[in-house]
Amino acid sequence: MPGVVGSAAADYSSSDSLGTSAAQTRSAAVEDLIRQDPGRFRVLTGDRPTGQLHLGHYFGTLHNRVRLQDLGVEMFVLIADYQVLTDRDVADHLVEHVEGLVLDYLAIGIDPDQSTVFAHSAIPALNQLLLPFLSLVSVAELGRNPTVKDEIAHSRQSAVSGLMFTYPAHQAADILFCKANLVPVGQDQLPHLELTRSIARRFNDRYGTGAGLFPEPDALLSDAPLLLGTDGTKMSKSRGNAIALAASADETARLIRGAKTDADRHITYDPVNRPEVSSLVLLAALCLGRDPHQIADDIGNAGAATLKNTVSEAVNEYLAPIRARRKQLAQDRGLIRQVLREGNERATAVADATLTDVRAAMNSVY
Ligand code: ATP
Ligand code: MG
Repeated sequence: MPGVVGSAAADYSSSDSLGTSAAQTRSAAVEDLIRQDPGRFRVLTGDRPTGQLHLGHYFGTLHNRVRLQDLGVEMFVLIADYQVLTDRDVADHLVEHVEGLVLDYLAIGIDPDQSTVFAHSAIPALNQLLLPFLSLVSVAELGRNPTVKDEIAHSRQSAVSGLMFTYPAHQAADILFCKANLVPVGQDQLPHLELTRSIARRFNDRYGTGAGLFPEPDALLSDAPLLLGTDGTKMSKSRGNAIALAASADETARLIRGAKTDADRHITYDPVNRPEVSSLVLLAALCLGRDPHQIADDIGNAGAATLKNTVSEAVNEYLAPIRARRKQLAQDRGLIRQVLREGNERATAVADATLTDVRAAMNSVY
């Protein structure tokens, strides 16, 4: 969507303090490197099975995943099932959500022959990396992490668990078990990725692994690093403000009709001062492959109701083929199981090899 890239990304980056601007600049440089030589990259990316994937996922990271895969970049797609328990006591509907994630991946174009889809609970050697990695971070560092703070603020638990606190170190294990050097993420994940880079660097320094056992992975941000939900905060599976990829066209229209806007009837694209209206304009722009400023100009004084109709039509039209494919794939549960079984096997072999390297570097081969 070339018309969208510059404007949307730049406007969003100026409105936050998470280092998004630097990450956008770096993402652009990485895009050049990918075009030159996709074979030098290995991607780790993933989602928590806490609900259905939504438009924030799609335009924040899923679209990039498929694009990278189709460029020939090797990819690991993680279902972060242990991490469901970071902010709740029980992982409800876990099987349903895991299978739903796999369905969404297949429906949007993830090809299990090219990309490894796996669940981290099924990979013992991956989880074992957490222990040496935890020794490389301080408690204060974990406590300062803005994503951890935000997730604690939205947690369903009254007390912060050790799992929540160590979430970023676990994520480092998720990324580094396959020595991934590229991670397509939304803006909320940037602090976690920064910690992963520190852990990789510190491991290499402390255990003298020369050229480096672990790469320092780059984040790859999309044109929509922070899509807002219907309540005007980050669209999230767990916050009841999301439009699921698998929703029906009617439900999509209903949810968009109820989205928060503001009192100004004249529609503009101004993410800093009008985040809710601008996120809707951006959504239409992404679906239509148009510039968000032009979409806002076209609607002008016609107001929020017209904007919402435009967004609903654009989203429903964009998602129609994905939704149709998803329905068809859902008939074949055996396929979903097979994708996971094969993915878990491939990820296990990779994790075992990395753990062997880690043990050798740490002098713990007995
Ligand atoms: P939960 O509320 O359960 O944490 P979530 O909607 O935040 O769910 P995650 O599984 O935590 O989804 O995130 C998966 C990936 O999607 C991450 O890379 C994250 O940055 C990205 N992502 C999630 N929500 C958005 C959003 N609203 N805009 C852009 N990217 C997003
Ligand atoms: Mg999240």
